[in-house]
Amino acid sequence: MKISPIIKNSIWFTWLLVVPVGIWVTYQVYPPLDVSVWEVIPFLFLMAVVAAMPMVVNNTPIFLIQWVSLAVFLTYGIFIEMVLMQISVLILLMRLRVQKADMYRVPLNSLMFFIVSLVSGLLFYALGGSHGAHLAKDPYTYVLGTVYGISNYGVNTLCLLLLQAVVLKLKGPYFGKDFIWETVTTLITFPIGFVLYELYLSDMEHYSLLFVGIPFASLSIILSLYYSSGKVNHYLQSAAEIGHQLAERLKADEVLDLFVQKLIEMLPVDYAYIMDVVDEKELKLIHKVEFGEVLDPIAEPLGKGKGISGLVWAEKKPVLFHSKKQWRHINSGYMPPAAESILSVPIVRNNQVIGVLVLAANKKRAFEKSQLIIIDILCSHFAIAVENARHHEKTKEYSERCALTGLYNYRYFENMLSSEFGKLQKGERDLLSLILLDIDHFKSVNDTYGHQSGNEILVELGERLKKRIGNMGTVARYGGEEFVILLPDMMKGDALKLAEQIRLLIAENPFKLLQSMDEEGKQLLVKITASIGVATAPQDADDSLALIRHADRALYVGAKRSGRNRVAEYVK
Ligand code: GH3
Ligand code: MG
Ligand code: MG
Repeated sequence: MKISPIIKNSIWFTWLLVVPVGIWVTYQVYPPLDVSVWEVIPFLFLMAVVAAMPMVVNNTPIFLIQWVSLAVFLTYGIFIEMVLMQISVLILLMRLRVQKADMYRVPLNSLMFFIVSLVSGLLFYALGGSHGAHLAKDPYTYVLGTVYGISNYGVNTLCLLLLQAVVLKLKGPYFGKDFIWETVTTLITFPIGFVLYELYLSDMEHYSLLFVGIPFASLSIILSLYYSSGKVNHYLQSAAEIGHQLAERLKADEVLDLFVQKLIEMLPVDYAYIMDVVDEKELKLIHKVEFGEVLDPIAEPLGKGKGISGLVWAEKKPVLFHSKKQWRHINSGYMPPAAESILSVPIVRNNQVIGVLVLAANKKRAFEKSQLIIIDILCSHFAIAVENARHHEKTKEYSERCALTGLYNYRYFENMLSSEFGKLQKGERDLLSLILLDIDHFKSVNDTYGHQSGNEILVELGERLKKRIGNMGTVARYGGEEFVILLPDMMKGDALKLAEQIRLLIAENPFKLLQSMDEEGKQLLVKITASIGVATAPQDADDSLALIRHADRALYVGAKRSGRNRVAEYVK
């Protein structure tokens, strides 16, 4: 999200106005009495350790420091707590590697925690609390300590809400998973503050920090692990679901689209590229998405071992880069100039790399290692789905085409005709013309030149028809030497004119036979003619079978019986 420079500057300005003076005034009003710096350093150390291991939930660092700050406050009072808290915030932000553009977060957090320390401490004093008292002797301090903790947490939450609503202008929901986690973990760890305080006042002194610090560290590691295992679990579930969805797609392009779309939903991806291994020689870009937009996959092919994806291919291992510094020296292919984080995974099928996936983001550290495993699983689902879809497409293509001419076959044509007739009946089309063509005396062509030459003529005729019809309609091989042309929204008159042009295209242009020569070694030219029948729905037929039957009738009665090499229309 973008924060305007005005807001950033006003954050710095407010900080300058409030925090230094605020800390100085606090020192004047509540000076720490009889406290040596050496005494405080172990507490500072404990706070630093706690600040350096935040738990990250929903991209929000959760900072479990309230319990230490309670102990410090009860031991030394408001000023020391305030100063140690400020140092801890700095350590936390350093640990989170705040980038230059986000530097405003330093004064912002400092200001926020200053307010938290101030309000909670003043409330504690106002209710009559004083620091340094033994809890066992003065149980009221428990109550006040709890009030301190609640106000600490309450003010913190309030500041965060204000920040989200006013400064970041986020629209809710503000109480996400991170909020619940923060509340629960704060509740769990808060009582440790009392224990630390009481142990510290007893003879244990600084040892108490170890006795309490070690269990706390263990607890926060366990909580972190618990959270990340929950997250991985969630990822695995969605990976399985995505796998099912991919498997249902029958077109390779749809599989590609869905796969990339799901990756973008799951991870902070700005750029996604999928490359195919072509002939074990090079990587060819086949899918390119930038900021959610599918673009033409144009890029120089990459050799094995060349560039980031070439390396992933050669080494069959995924790579993860957090910033440009890490990959700049190996990159040789296309990569947008603003990209920083890169995650690239080989797409493996039967132990062979069949492609490479590259995900990139402008943000540094956009991807985590735990996501690599999930992407790896998704890639194997993807490899299977895309292979199945390609296989399905090929089989479908085979089953719809005639092997000799490459034209659509009768089966495909019949389906197409009935679907076109459906459109006609629904009113989506006004007309449907059909041209049926049969070569004249083709048996004798076969007898004279041989069956192979007959085949050559059929192939060339198919090509001539396809070229002439183009996008106007569909050409199919209806049977042996019979062809059919379906012309949606064409009037009968136009279909008849077109049929006549086709007749001339055949009769006036002899067919070259490539395989056979005449006695002089020249390529043979064969003259053929065709008879053509035309019918148009709805005027000539109410259903698809009738349309074919009537075109056939025009062909045999009107054209063949009247002497061949002519066009005839159906008449009732
Ligand atoms: P007409 O239609 O003018 O009545 O005479 P025709 O000789 O074309 O008629 P008929 O339907 O009796 O014969 C069709 C011939 O087409 C029979 C067959 O030898 C030939 N034929 C059908 N399919 C193929 C094919 O795939 N390749 C070759 N070379 N010939 C084929
Ligand atoms: Mg014939
Ligand atoms: Mg025939």
